[in-house]
Amino acid sequence: MICLGIESTAHTFGVGIVDERGRVLVNERATFTTESGGIRPYKAFEHHVLFAEFVLKNALQNSGVKLSDIDLIAFAQGPGLGLTLRSGAVMARTLSKLLKKQLIGVNHCIAHVEIGKQTSGFKDPITLYVSGANTQILAFAAGRYRVFGETLDTGVGNFLDNFGRLLGLGFPAGPKIDELAKLGKNYIPLNYTIKGMDFSFSGILTNAEKKIKDEREKNNGKISDTFLHDICYSVQETVFAILTEATERAIAHVNKKEILLTGGVAANSRLQVMLASMAKDRGVKFKVVPRELAGDNGAMIAYAGILAHKAKVTQSKQSLAAPRRFAALETKDTAIIQDWRTDQVNAVWVK
Ligand code: AMP
Ligand code: MG
Repeated sequence: MICLGIESTAHTFGVGIVDERGRVLVNERATFTTESGGIRPYKAFEHHVLFAEFVLKNALQNSGVKLSDIDLIAFAQGPGLGLTLRSGAVMARTLSKLLKKQLIGVNHCIAHVEIGKQTSGFKDPITLYVSGANTQILAFAAGRYRVFGETLDTGVGNFLDNFGRLLGLGFPAGPKIDELAKLGKNYIPLNYTIKGMDFSFSGILTNAEKKIKDEREKNNGKISDTFLHDICYSVQETVFAILTEATERAIAHVNKKEILLTGGVAANSRLQVMLASMAKDRGVKFKVVPRELAGDNGAMIAYAGILAHKAKVTQSKQSLAAPRRFAALETKDTAIIQDWRTDQVNAVWVK
């Protein structure tokens, strides 16, 4: 069985093709980026509409898979930005109708977890899922991926991008902050916001903004290289310590032996080091999703589609369980679900 998966929840339009054993045959994408500012939903939507056909064509050409070889079409049904989600949903519905193949909507967050489990070989991890819009600590219990802790405001990726915007780093800023932070030496104290298992980042952003303003006032409107490195270093130390602390608390409370790091921010070198060190201290295994599968991509959607399909999940059954918005505007069962939470999905494929 071959599944074609379409990702379009936010900045990336991706098409991946995965076989029944979870092997990634191709993983093509086009990502919306800017030199300044963040993701503007309409701009990202225009980007996806422009690149959709090109990405699909590349996926087919580079894998040698023909449209007639495809058995299943999966698409990211939510959560995400309404406009961008629709760009992928329209392509998915069209392909499904033309090819007369089943269509399956996938929860994007769960796809990040499943591709991480597949590549790590972990069966039952505590997952730290860190991406642009979402940041959650997840573990499987009683049929669903339960949220043990999560951000109370923005995802850590969006936080890093917003912080980077204050420094004019463009979008996405996360990889640039990762590099600049390596040159930082002095810790600039910032708020440390964690309550039990949940955490928040907006206060830290305001706090960092104030430090940047003070630096500009002191320095004729400019930011010195030393300050730039130190503030990136301090922001990373603070927010990644928060995430590591919450993950450690989760692993201490539930009887799991594996920690999985997945999502776009999983590519961060410092976060990986902090979690690896914590896992070593606790005597549990730690693995990170490979970089090419860390950020949003179509292969993870295809893989999650295969898992659900094999477990006999059908689109109509699934949609009845999930809340539907704007359903009247779209093909009934495949309406996008902008606020589809990880813990609303019955993960019947997990053994
Ligand atoms: P996703 O939404 O899962 O595709 O993740 C995208 C987010 O990952 C963006 O906010 C990026 O800034 C962030 N990101 C990517 N690479 C890194 C990195 N090396 N360090 C920190 N954040 C990163
Ligand atoms: Mg994502």
